[in-house]
Amino acid sequence: MDKLKQKKLFLFDMDGTLYLGNRLYDFTNELLDTIKSSGGRYMFMTNNSSRSVSDYIKKLACLGVKAVREDFITSSQATAYYLNKHYKGKTLYVCGTESLKEELRANGYEITESLDKVEVVVMGFDTELTFKKLEDVSKLLLSRCDIPYIATNPDYVCPTEFGSVPDCGSVCDMLYNVSGRRPLVIGKPEPLMPILAMEHTGYTREETVVIGDRIYTDIKSGLNAGVSTILVMSGETTYEILEKSDDKPDYVMESGKELLDILK
Ligand SMILES: [Mg+2]
Repeated sequence: MDKLKQKKLFLFDMDGTLYLGNRLYDFTNELLDTIKSSGGRYMFMTNNSSRSVSDYIKKLACLGVKAVREDFITSSQATAYYLNKHYKGKTLYVCGTESLKEELRANGYEITESLDKVEVVVMGFDTELTFKKLEDVSKLLLSRCDIPYIATNPDYVCPTEFGSVPDCGSVCDMLYNVSGRRPLVIGKPEPLMPILAMEHTGYTREETVVIGDRIYTDIKSGLNAGVSTILVMSGETTYEILEKSDDKPDYVMESGKELLDILK
């Protein structure tokens, strides 16, 4: 546990880790303040590409957590980063929300609905999904079998107050049934978001830790990025799930309160 005191960059999942739905955990602000006052840095890491960073700043403000743009690493930002590296300046078809489109436009990408101009297809968690978009992507994938095809995140469902709604991974499965193609996935469990956070901040793998409540996304992204991981049992993982999983976190804690007690 002493090793955790030497960590400098703390990459937090949000729901189930720092709050649950609309209820902030009572240790969250003190934990974030403690990291800052001891010279460390934290970032919020989210797979949800339907919301922009500004949306998240507002959501956290409502819960009582102050945050700025630089505190976030989202799958939309990571997707823009990946595109900049591999498909710079290409014209995109985006099956995603206006928020995702804005993020990509802000990175200099042209987004079109003229299918003959499209060079890369990007799928997001599209809470504004229409049948027309599904038809467009079907056409693109079927008529051009080598067109680059990217998804912001692999989640099958997104939690809501009443249960869950289909997320990006479920829609990609519908398109798999049509085209036989699977997208290249950017968000957790892939390592790109932790890697991007380290590149941005200049911290090393040894100085970085991922904290989250899901093994198959949060913990896996940390393991894939080669950094330390803390599984918190304050969200959706049960001890039964943990026992059955092949992916083992470095630390298991009841909640972020335990991390706070170590860092204090
Ligand atoms: Mg979570």
